[in-house]
Amino acid sequence: MALIVQKYGGTSVGSTEKIKNVAGRVIEYCEKGDMLVVVLSAMAGQTDDLIRLSKEITETPDPRELDVLMATGEQITISLFATAVKSMGYDCCSLLGFQAAIHTDEIYGKARIRKIDTDRILKELDEDRIVAVAGFQGIDESGNITTLGRGGSDTTAVALAAALKANLCEIFTDVDGVFSADPNICTHAKKLEQISYEEMLELSSLGAKVLDIRSVEFAKKFNVPIHVRSSFTRNEGTMVVAENKEMEKVLVSGVVFDKNEARVTIVKVPDRPGIASKIFNPVFKAGIVVDMIIQNTSAEGITDLTFTVTKANFDETMKLVREVAKEIDAEKVLGDQNISKVSIIGLGMRNHAGVASKMFETLSKENINISMISTSEIKISCVIEEKYTELAVRALHEAFGLGDEKKQN
Ligand code: ADP
Ligand code: ASP
Ligand code: MG
Repeated sequence: MALIVQKYGGTSVGSTEKIKNVAGRVIEYCEKGDMLVVVLSAMAGQTDDLIRLSKEITETPDPRELDVLMATGEQITISLFATAVKSMGYDCCSLLGFQAAIHTDEIYGKARIRKIDTDRILKELDEDRIVAVAGFQGIDESGNITTLGRGGSDTTAVALAAALKANLCEIFTDVDGVFSADPNICTHAKKLEQISYEEMLELSSLGAKVLDIRSVEFAKKFNVPIHVRSSFTRNEGTMVVAENKEMEKVLVSGVVFDKNEARVTIVKVPDRPGIASKIFNPVFKAGIVVDMIIQNTSAEGITDLTFTVTKANFDETMKLVREVAKEIDAEKVLGDQNISKVSIIGLGMRNHAGVASKMFETLSKENINISMISTSEIKISCVIEEKYTELAVRALHEAFGLGDEKKQN
C-alpha cells in the first residue's frame, strides 16, 4: 500500500466531464489499495478570468483581496471532484489551503510555504477517504488567505508529498512528460525518461512551465521523486529524480525559451565606484528581480549597462532607472520588450567545451543575432529578437540531435 500525492492541472480539470474522468482514475488507484491525496488546480483559464474581473474594478487590485478572489478557482474544482468521487461510491473530503493547514509567509500573490500540519489530512486518510486539497493557496500567520504564485499547485503537491513522506508525487498535465523542448512548439521534441532535479530547476527557471520552479526546489530539498505524466493517456511519463551516472552522459538534454523578459540599457554611464549599486538599489527595493546583467568594458571612463527584468516589471523599471540616469548623468535609457531568451541545458556541459560555440554557430546560420549571453555550469542562455524564438528553438533542437536517438549529442 502506497501513499501517493497526485496533482491535476487546469486543462486536466477543464470541464465537469474531465473532472469525472480524473475521479475515475483516482479511484482505480484506491482499488489497488493506495491512499490518495489529490491536489487540484482551477479549471483552465479560471484564474485569468478572476484576475480580469478584479481589473475591471481597478488596474491595481488590493493584493489581499486578489488572493481571496484567486483562491476561489481551486475551491470549485476540489468540490466538484469530491462530488464526482462520492457519486461513484467512494468517500472523499475536500480541503481548502487553510483546512489542510498549509502555512505560508504573508507575501500575497507569491507566498512561500513555511510548514504543513498534516494531522487533518492523515485523519481523513485514516478514515479511508480520498483527500482533495486546493492547490496554489495557503494561510498566513494572521489567518489571511495567500496564494503561491502562478502555477503554484505543483508546489502544493510536492510540498504535501514531502510533509506526508509520500511514496510518490505524480503531476498530471496535458503533455506526456518533460520533453527535450516544448512539444507544442517543437514537433520533434522527445519525451525524456528521467531528468535530474538540477536540470529541471534550470528548465523551469528558464521558461518551461511544465513544473513550477518552487516545486522542483522542494523536491530536490526533500528528495521527493516526481512523475510528470499526462492525464489524457496511460503512457509512462518522466521521472524527476536525483542525478545518477546514466544522466552524466547526456551533453544537452533540453532547449527552452522565455518570452517573458524585457531589456533595459543605460547608455553612457560614468564608470566609477558605486554606480551599479546606485542604479540597482531602487530596482531591488521595489522587489523587482533582475536576471541577466552585462556591463561593457569602459572606454574613457564611460560604459553601457544592460540588464533584463520580466515584462510585467518593465514599465516600473524604466521609470526608476530613468530617474537614476538623470542623477548620475548617463546619456539615455533604452528599453526593448521584443526579446526572448533561448537556452540549452544539460549535465554533460560540465565536462565538455564546444557546446557554446555550437550554439552560437547554429543561431548565426539562421541569421539570428545574439544580444546577450549568460552561462552557468549546466546551461547557456542567449537573448535574441522575440520573433525568431520558435526558429531558434527548432534549429538548436536539431543541431544537438535531441529529437533523434542516433544523433543524440
Ligand atoms: P498544467 O495546467 O497541467 O499545470 P501547464 O500549462 O502549467 O500545465 O504546463 C504544461 C505545458 O508546459 C505544456 O502544455 C507545454 O506546452 C509546456 N512546456 C514547456 N516546455 C516543456 C517541456 N520541455 N516539456 C513539456 N512541456 C513543456
Ligand atoms: N490556478 C493557478 C494558476 O492558474 C495555479 C495552478 O494552476 O497551478 O496559476
Ligand atoms: Mg502548471
